[in-house]
Amino acid sequence: MNLSGKQQTFLRMLPAVDYILELAKTDSLFDNVPKSVLVRSIRSVVENFRMTIIEDQQDLTEADLSDANLLNKIKNRVKIAMAPMLTRVINATGVVVHTNLGRSLLSDDAVQNLLAIASGYSNLEFDLSKGMRGSRYSIVENILCEISGAEAAMVVNNNAGAVFLSLETLAKDKKVIVSRGELVEIGGSFRIPDVMAKSGGILREVGTTNRTHLKDYENAIEHDTALLLKVHKSNYSVVGFTAEVSLEALVALGAKYKIPVMEDLGSGTFVDLSKYGLLKEPTVQESVKAGADIITFSGDKLLGGPQAGIMVGKNDLLMKIKENPINRALRIDKLTLAALESTLRHYRNIDREMDSIPTLRMLTLSLAHIESKAKTLAKMLENISDTRLSVDLIDTSSRPGGGSLPLLTLPSKGVGLNVRGISANAVEEQMRNHELPIIGRIEEDLFIMDLRTLLDDELPIIKHAVEHMLKKA
Ligand SMILES: *Cc1c(COP(=O)(O)O)cnc(C)c1O
Repeated sequence: MNLSGKQQTFLRMLPAVDYILELAKTDSLFDNVPKSVLVRSIRSVVENFRMTIIEDQQDLTEADLSDANLLNKIKNRVKIAMAPMLTRVINATGVVVHTNLGRSLLSDDAVQNLLAIASGYSNLEFDLSKGMRGSRYSIVENILCEISGAEAAMVVNNNAGAVFLSLETLAKDKKVIVSRGELVEIGGSFRIPDVMAKSGGILREVGTTNRTHLKDYENAIEHDTALLLKVHKSNYSVVGFTAEVSLEALVALGAKYKIPVMEDLGSGTFVDLSKYGLLKEPTVQESVKAGADIITFSGDKLLGGPQAGIMVGKNDLLMKIKENPINRALRIDKLTLAALESTLRHYRNIDREMDSIPTLRMLTLSLAHIESKAKTLAKMLENISDTRLSVDLIDTSSRPGGGSLPLLTLPSKGVGLNVRGISANAVEEQMRNHELPIIGRIEEDLFIMDLRTLLDDELPIIKHAVEHMLKKA
C-alpha cells in the first residue's frame, strides 16, 4: 500500500495506548472507569483514526489528532461502554405488544412479586406443607387449570419452546397433520415446518393455502399419525374464498381415530376481547372446551405477563411432556414464575382487574382518554418557549402488535413535533438517542408520538428530551 507523506505523518502522530493511559490520569472523569473499559475505548478510538488515515479521508486535520480531541473521543466511547446495554425506553409507537421493545409490561403486582422473589429465598422447589422437595411447575399449574378449565398445565421458557417440546414428546418420528393455510412464520426464525423438523415430527401438509376441509385431514391419517395440529394465524389473515376446519371438528376426527389434537394459539388470551370493542381472538378457555388435548400459547403477548410458554390440556399428555428430559433445557426461571403467577391471579377477577395488566389496559383505552393525555402532552410541549417548535394534535392509529389481532388498527391520538431547521428524521434520531430513548414514528414527514402506549410519568421526560434537543440545535 502506498501512503502519502501526509498519511505517514498522521500515522506517526497516533499515540501509544500507554501514553493515553497516563494522559487520562489527569482527568477526574476517568477516575472510576475500570482499566479494561478504558483500554478498550482507547484502542477503538486510535484504531478508528488509523482506518481514517489509511482510507485517506481528506477532511482529517492535525487538530483531530490532538491529545485533547483524542481524550474527548475516548470520553464519549467510555460513556457508551459504561452505560448499561439493556435500558428502559419510552414506547411512543402505539404498538402495544411491540416485539422489539420487550412485548408486554408487567403489572405492579407482578413487579412487586418479582422483586420479592429475586431478593430472597423462596419455596421454588420446596413443598412447605410437607417440608420436602416440591416442583416448580406446581406454582402456576393450579391457577392455570382454574382459569382455563384444563386438567393439567405446564410452563416453559417461551411458546416456541412449548411447541417444540410438545411435538418432540408426542410426535417424534411420527406424522403430524397440518393445514397448508397454517404453516406460519412468526418472525425471528420461528417457522412451523422448521420447528417440526427439529422436533423430529414429520410434517404432513394437507389442503391448500386458502381452503382446507375435514376430509383432507381424514384422508391423510395413517397408522403412524401422532398428532393433528392446528396453528392460530397470529400475524396474517387469509380472506376471500377460504375454508378452515374448526377445532371442534378436528377434535371429533381425532376422537374417531384416537389421535390427539394440539392447538398452537400463539398469543393466547383468557379474555374475549370482542367484549371490549376489539376483534375476536380465540380464548384459551374456548379451546379447552372444544376438547383440544394440548394448547400452547405465549405469556407475554395478549396475556400481558412475562416471556413464557404455557401448555394446558389433558393430564396424560402433559405428564409425558413433563417427563421429557428436554424440558430441563427449556426450564422457566423463578423470576418469570413470580411474575407469571401474579399476572395469572389478575385473571381470577379480570373484569375488575383489566386495567392492572398494562397490555390489556392499553388495548382497551378509550379514545377520549387517549385524547386527554395527548392534550396534556401537547400543552406541556407548547410551554417550551421556542419559536422553532410547533406541536400538533393528530389523529392516528395504533396496532396491537406481537403477532396478535393482525387486521386490527385502533383509532388513537398522537402528538406531532415539527422543529424548524431540523428534519423529521433528525428529530426521530435525537429522540431515540435521548438518555432515556423515546421511540416514535414518522408519518408524512412528521415525527409523531402515539399516546396509547405512553405512561403518565413519561410525559415530563418527553418534554425534557425536546428541550434538550432544542438546546443542542
Ligand atoms: C408468537 C407465536 C409463537 C412463538 O411464541 P414465543 O412466545 O414468541 O416463543 C408460536 N406460535 C404462534 C402461532 C405465535 O403467534
